Amino acid sequence: MRYLLPTCLILLFMSCEQEETPEPVRTIPELVQPHVDRFILEAERRGVSLDISKLSFEFELGLTIPNQGLAIASCTRTEDLHLVKIDTSNVFWVHGGPMGQEEVVFHELGHCLLQRPHKEDRLATDDFRSIMRAQGALSYGSFNTFLQSSMVHRRDYYLDELFNENTPAPCWAVQDPAPPFPQQIFDEDFLNAGPHYEMILDGTGSFWLSGQNDMYRFQNGQFEEVPFEYEVNELASDHAGNLWIAARWENKGLLGLWNDGEFEALYEDTEIGGPIFNIYRMTVDHQGMLWFSSVNGEIFRQTEAGDFEQIPDQSDVPVSKMLSSSDGTLYMLKGFEILIFKESLTPQTLSTSNSGLPIGYFRDFAVDNQGVLWLTVAGLKETYLVRIYQDQTVEVLELADLNMPETFINAIWSDSEGNIWLATSNGIKKWEEEYFSGYCTFNTGNPILSPTDIVVDSQGIVWSMGKDAVDSRRKIIRTDTGI
Ligand SMILES: [Zn+2]
Repeated sequence: MRYLLPTCLILLFMSCEQEETPEPVRTIPELVQPHVDRFILEAERRGVSLDISKLSFEFELGLTIPNQGLAIASCTRTEDLHLVKIDTSNVFWVHGGPMGQEEVVFHELGHCLLQRPHKEDRLATDDFRSIMRAQGALSYGSFNTFLQSSMVHRRDYYLDELFNENTPAPCWAVQDPAPPFPQQIFDEDFLNAGPHYEMILDGTGSFWLSGQNDMYRFQNGQFEEVPFEYEVNELASDHAGNLWIAARWENKGLLGLWNDGEFEALYEDTEIGGPIFNIYRMTVDHQGMLWFSSVNGEIFRQTEAGDFEQIPDQSDVPVSKMLSSSDGTLYMLKGFEILIFKESLTPQTLSTSNSGLPIGYFRDFAVDNQGVLWLTVAGLKETYLVRIYQDQTVEVLELADLNMPETFINAIWSDSEGNIWLATSNGIKKWEEEYFSGYCTFNTGNPILSPTDIVVDSQGIVWSMGKDAVDSRRKIIRTDTGI
């Protein structure tokens, strides 16, 4: 990837000839059109205006730059033509993933449209300061698709730098990076000992972790084990501040409230292996009624009389998530279906076959303050993020346009203000109205790159959990954003 500097001579020569030369043929082939479109979008987002009227592309096998040798791509600027040449047979282009190819095109557009020369400065980590370096490894793309996911979190910095050379060094490339907000990292042995812990906020805003055999509560700046004599199935908090606990003891299922440090069992199964024993997910609706689903996919709802009735439903797939929104609507993820209960015990059902939802595993969802449901779907090769509006219109978002190319979404959270937060393979992200926040907005350069879960309390404390990429230990980060 080298920049062919047009000399003054060439410029003069071209301008002399210009009057007799017909307008050059300019083309933007389909292969590079998406990269050009994205370059324009990223420029606009940063308030940089571009003149693309003279831009053209050519593909040239065995592209050679005089006195320099073989190159993947080059840019030549003359008065009426800004020509990018790419050798699409070059092994690096052929094996470059979407980000590798984008970086090559963006480098050349940096020359051709932004008139940027090469820049060889390095960051403290020895990474290049700019994608405008002349040679060497790619900076956020990769020519190895397996490496790509570990590089792409750098992209938002490199694009900032491309459009503004004075961009300060990013959080991932400074010594001892300062956290963007007050931050605590918890490396607890219990997180690494056994089962997966679920993160829960109770109605008073306290943060809990529930494993299968134990529970922890965050108090006085640390995690304290909650004395509990049963196995925990599931926790759920209601709007009044109560915490419901579904538990097991010997062959019995128990369901009750946590009151002043004591568990008060209000329901228990009348037979071995009853529905309470099998509680898998649980939530409390806006009227304070408890709903739960069993490992067998049955759904039950508390009645006015205080007992439970089963919701007629055909599928035996377990409900993986239940959520009660502030407008009284209840949402459930059940395999390949989303069930929406609106003032009725008969749900509306959305699926890939009836609503244009992408094919894949419906992983997580949240509802924002407009009542829009945000759903993430893990497809075979990529993550989808979908918005489902109140009228059930489905919009599949283009993640690469939203500062999230090549990013896997693990969990979604909607905070008490209705802000949408994501736990992604590139750290914590917040929806900023038109796109998602940059990597360094909520993350430092270390230690967790890929949180699997996220919870945000009403004080703006962001709790995220994930494995440290360096020591592979599961950790929890508490970030006090105040948002
Ligand atoms: Zn160059």
